[in-house]
Formats: sequence, C-alpha cells, structure tokens
Amino acid sequence: MSIEASTEDSGDEGSSPGALKRFVSAGRGLWHNVSDADWNDWHWQLKHRITRLEQLTRLMPTLTAEEYAGTQLANHKLALAITPYFFNLINPADEHCPIRRQVIPRLEETHTAPWEMSDPCGEDSHSPVPGLVHRYPDRVLFLVTDRCASYCRYCTRSRLVSNASGYDFHPRFADQLDYIRQHPEIRDVLLSGGDPLLFSDDKLNQLLTALRAIPHVEFVRIGTRIPIFLPQRITPELCAMLKRHHPLFISIHSNHPRELTTEVRTALERLADAGIPLGNQSVLLRHVNDDAEVMKAHVQKLLMCRVRPYYIYQCDLIAGSAHLRTSVRKGLEIMQALRGHTTGYAVPTYVIDAPGGGGKVPVSPEYVLSRSTGRVIIRNYEGKIFEYPEAPDGTPQFAAPREIVEPELV
Ligand code: SF4
Repeated sequence: MSIEASTEDSGDEGSSPGALKRFVSAGRGLWHNVSDADWNDWHWQLKHRITRLEQLTRLMPTLTAEEYAGTQLANHKLALAITPYFFNLINPADEHCPIRRQVIPRLEETHTAPWEMSDPCGEDSHSPVPGLVHRYPDRVLFLVTDRCASYCRYCTRSRLVSNASGYDFHPRFADQLDYIRQHPEIRDVLLSGGDPLLFSDDKLNQLLTALRAIPHVEFVRIGTRIPIFLPQRITPELCAMLKRHHPLFISIHSNHPRELTTEVRTALERLADAGIPLGNQSVLLRHVNDDAEVMKAHVQKLLMCRVRPYYIYQCDLIAGSAHLRTSVRKGLEIMQALRGHTTGYAVPTYVIDAPGGGGKVPVSPEYVLSRSTGRVIIRNYEGKIFEYPEAPDGTPQFAAPREIVEPELV
C-alpha cells in the first residue's frame, strides 16, 4: 500500500454553523490508493489502525511537542489507536482540531490532578463478579471486552480499556450471565466495554441469545462508538442479526458535528431501519464541543441521522483528563442555549456522574425560581418570568399562566 500526503477529500469542513451541519465524506485522504473493497472492510480498517508513534509522525508531521511526548508515553495509560477512516477527519494543519484532541495523546495525560481517579465512577467497587457493574437497582453494566476501534483520550474506563496499564481484564461471561439469572430485579442490561460491536456477528449473537433467554431481562442496550470510529462495521448482516434481539437499544458516542459524516449517517440509518432506537451520549470536552453553536449543530445533525441526543456528560474525573475538562458553568450555559432554542427532541440531559459511584445526577439551569403555597415562579428560555398557580395536591388549577416580570430582569 502506498501512502501519500494529500488533502483531497479532507474531512475538515470549516467551523461556521452552516458548514458544521453539512454532511461530508471522511474521504480517503492518505489512503487514496487503497481499493474500495479494502477501505470498506472493517477488518482492513482495524488492521491498519495507527497505533505507533512512528506511524503517527509519518502520517502527521505537524505533531506538536506535547502530542509527540504524549504519544511516546501513551501506552502506560491508554493505548493509541486510530482507524484510517477516523484519522481522515483530523485537520493536520490545525493543532486545536476538535477531532485530533479526542484521539491523539498529549503530555498532559501524564499529569494527575489531586481529585482525579483511575476509577472515577466507582465501578470496581460495584462489581459483584468481574466485568459486571451493579450500581442501580434494576439494571447492570455488562463489560464484554477491553478493546475499542480507536481510543478516546478521556475514557472513563482507561484503567482497563486497551490493557495499557496492566489491569488484565478478563470478563467471564458464564459468571456474568449467572449473576443476572440469579437476580430477577435486573430488567435492563447494558453491554459495553470496550466496544461490543468489535465482536464478530456470531459471538455477539450468542451473547444476545443468552441474555434474551433470561425471562426477567426486558431489554438490552449496547453502548458503542463503532458507528463513529468504524462505520464500515455496520453491515447489513450485523443489522439483520441485531434485529432478532428486540427490544434492543443502541447508544452511540459522538462529540462533534464533524464526526457525523455521510458514512456515519449511512451506518446509523441502517441501524434505525433495523428498528433499533438510537440515542447519543456526548462528553463535554474543552476545545472540542464546549461551545453552544457547535453543540447545537451537533444535536441537530444527530436528529438528521435519526439519533436522539440522550446525555451530555460532564467529563469524569479520570486521571490525566484535566486539560479536556470544562467547567460545569460552561455546561449549564450550553444547556441554556439549547433548551427552547431548538427542538425539544434535540436537547439532551446534562449529567455529572457523581464521583465514587453515586450515579448520574442531572444538572440543569434553574427554571423554577421559587415555590410557595399556591404558586410557583418559573422562568422561560427567553428569561421571562411567570407565575403558575399551584394546587395543594400538586395538580395545576384552572388559571392561565401569567407573565409578571419583563425579560431584562434575568
Ligand atoms: S470508545 Fe468508549 S470505551 Fe472505548 S476508549 Fe472511547 S470512551 Fe473508552
């Protein structure tokens, strides 16, 4: 395979709101000599991932000193891997490229702030058997693998994902399934990892079949970033297999509108056509998507891909992620810029995963200003304030809401 520098078909499409919402192909970029058959084969993409510093410097001579140093050290915390497809979305001329910041290691990853942890969500302490996290009463997280198509530098599970830090993750499906069988309160199983869609169709089918055979498991979810990193994996055969296991939901993970390419849209449409409800989880990241216009373009574009924006996560307190973390104030500002300013379906819930295993806590700008006997004072998206009559039992009375204060007061 010959690899030549080329900017043809670059995924960089500008940053104006209109440009951000355009669907463009990631293109072939440096791999323009590769056959269609190879390029569209997910195994080929995995085999040709960028995993070493020498490859990265050859493909991207514009690596900064921080990135160079970070990549040298990357494998101590989280391995480096980027699919050729996703690499094409990076703008090598822009050291602040939002795609680049998500997958290229930086020296800052080696700095751990005092409040950062290797297991910020307390998953290990809520694991009754290896690879199974039982934190909420009626649902479990079922970790199936420690491998991903590409590795996100802020990964909450970087302690185990890629096995770079020697966690030695070995899920035992028989024990995980047994635990679920013995706990009839578990009605919802979330398969995650690592990325479950890296499994072959057969292996995934076996696991889903085993889960489906447990009478109290009402539905299964899959958390995956494969449609974003490796849309080639979403084959008609995979979708036909998944379709046999309904009700099955899929949560994808996309952070920036530029990740939503024509290839990704096709993959997501395929999943949606298989009857799979799709939601998206984003992580709020500094200089990636901590901007209201970028986030608005992203959520609107997700709806065009038939994906409902589900969560925006405050970046977990994972060791070495401080350079990617934004303030909660910024997150609230973004939520305020979305609510009422775009379709309700496009507005996700902003959550903080409470450190140590407290679970997801929704955080929202304040819309209820005060409550007292007989009335609630509320604020709308424009800052206008209204009084709403409150019945003693909480049922609204027959009085129309009344605007009481002019907008400049907020
Ligand atoms: S795809 Fe998910 S599990 Fe894998 S590195 Fe990214 S955030 Fe972590």
